Amino acid sequence: MNSGLRATVVGRQVFTAAVRTQDREETWNRLCYPHGMSSLPNVPETGSLLAPPAPGTPLFRLVWNQERILLHRGRDEMCAFDLAGRPVSWVRHGVVHRRGLDGSVLELVRAPGREGWEQGVRRLAPEEQASQLGHVRVLLEEGWRLLGHPEPLRRAVELDPNQDAARFKSIWRPIMILPPDQYRSLVLQLTEGCSYNRCSFCTFYKERPYRVLSREEFTRHVEEALAFMGAGLSWRRGVFLADANAASLPDAHLLAALGWLHRRLEAPRPADPVFQPGHLSGFSSFLDTFSTLRRTLEVWRELAGLGLDSLHLGIETGSDRVLRVLRKPGSAAQAEELVGLLKAAGIRVGVIVMTGVGGPALAEEHVEKTAELLNRLPLDAGDRISLSEFEPDPRSPYVLEGMADLLDRRACREQSRDLRSRLRFRAHPQGPVVSHYDVRQFVY
Ligand code: SF4
Repeated sequence: MNSGLRATVVGRQVFTAAVRTQDREETWNRLCYPHGMSSLPNVPETGSLLAPPAPGTPLFRLVWNQERILLHRGRDEMCAFDLAGRPVSWVRHGVVHRRGLDGSVLELVRAPGREGWEQGVRRLAPEEQASQLGHVRVLLEEGWRLLGHPEPLRRAVELDPNQDAARFKSIWRPIMILPPDQYRSLVLQLTEGCSYNRCSFCTFYKERPYRVLSREEFTRHVEEALAFMGAGLSWRRGVFLADANAASLPDAHLLAALGWLHRRLEAPRPADPVFQPGHLSGFSSFLDTFSTLRRTLEVWRELAGLGLDSLHLGIETGSDRVLRVLRKPGSAAQAEELVGLLKAAGIRVGVIVMTGVGGPALAEEHVEKTAELLNRLPLDAGDRISLSEFEPDPRSPYVLEGMADLLDRRACREQSRDLRSRLRFRAHPQGPVVSHYDVRQFVY
């Protein structure tokens, strides 16, 4: 870090004097990107501002770096914005809210439950979202006034979050789910829906026919996505190719798409305010375990050479009997073979399993066979095992057809613990990350 470029400014007078002598946009760029754009991804340059204390007025503090802008009001309220000015999360009276680019808002509350502290998650209704955005607006306007109209807040003040969310929805189909380590990716929809779409437990794409975007459509989607993200792109790391199974496209199509995308994202773009070569390197995607069985190691290596960095496999279980309950094709043996191929090609692997599936009747077999399968996989540093507790969707065939009795959250949690205790990997960072994957907390 170049300490000479540290842009900490304290006090209204100092900051406004700086603004008067500079073009506003220039000042903003200098404060946020003091090393120039090219160093953006690696330089955590920060700045901060304090409102002059005044009797009866809560203390306002603004802190920013190259990824986020944080506005604090007293000790108990805080709102985070991305550099495009979008409110992304806020804390108020101990309750955390997270807002997606599509405008949806999650409420996260930790409360004592039967098993100690538990995370409550609620997706707010439209009128509740509007009310929350109203609180954010009040906080923002008060901070803007008391801090003397600081440039880092200008985009947030000028942004209409509802219009912004509408624009997002005109570029992306709803993003239904991402792997737990991909929430910060730039999602690009190379395909729509799922090429299989018949798993008994999954309703994500029931209303979305599978479709592969043409080259022209995908090119336009990428350009629109980059333009939409604007300065907010600085928060993103890597690219996630959606929807489900984009990596199962025919070899020639996938190679061509990744080749083009690799060149597009690596090319210097002086016209883009934030985007620089390497910022978004590393492609990721979901992949089923049954549709790429004929893809050779050479092709996987070629894809890795074009930037395919990690693939996320919903293997769900190591029991073939439970797989059949889930109506998911393939087998534990095929999953094992695929993971071996990906690792040999230098592609990192995220494995997702669901606890609770198969119900009480298959519970022991599910845990035993899944632990056996996972322990056979050549996973190491950089890989991930995600344990997801089954959230049955009442509209799914799994529930409607009564394919297995449902286990409650507590039983799923116990299965997760049991499964975890049977894993025999080296501890992270030498071994894979083993984490809880709470799909209720997903918002993009
Ligand atoms: S679980 Fe995956 S493969 Fe199965 S229908 Fe859903 S998206 Fe498709």
